[in-house]
Amino acid sequence: MMNWKDVLNFADNGTPLPDKTVVKSEAEWQALLSPEVFHITRLKGTERPHSSELCNLFSSGIYSCACCQTELFDSSGKFESGTGWPSFTEPIKSNAVAYSADNSHGMRRVEALCNTCGAHLGHVFPDGPAPSGLRFCINALALRKTS
Ligand SMILES: [Zn+2]
Repeated sequence: MMNWKDVLNFADNGTPLPDKTVVKSEAEWQALLSPEVFHITRLKGTERPHSSELCNLFSSGIYSCACCQTELFDSSGKFESGTGWPSFTEPIKSNAVAYSADNSHGMRRVEALCNTCGAHLGHVFPDGPAPSGLRFCINALALRKTS
């Protein structure tokens, strides 16, 4: 199971390679995605907290990337963080999510991206529940739930 040291290591030295990659131009993504999903995933936007019913959804299923449909999180790792964004303790596989140091907005954060297509998902924080201690704070618009 991943921990915060792994996240920092991946952010500094690169994430394990994904099983496949999906590469499209910004114009191609814009044609494929709704304006809201495009803004979050391709322009690194952040949706308003508590803006999605996905926050309160805990039924079993798989959460996939809204852009390329790669499986990212399992409902077994989802928890109520109280932040207003869907929160997970770990990715479905160690190479599903990519990590990147994000020093924007005067903060030192670790950005979480889809490792397959580069979609911005959200950020990872070291204040999640045991045993991983991780909190993946993810925009609901970046996810698609399938059961
Ligand atoms: Zn993706």
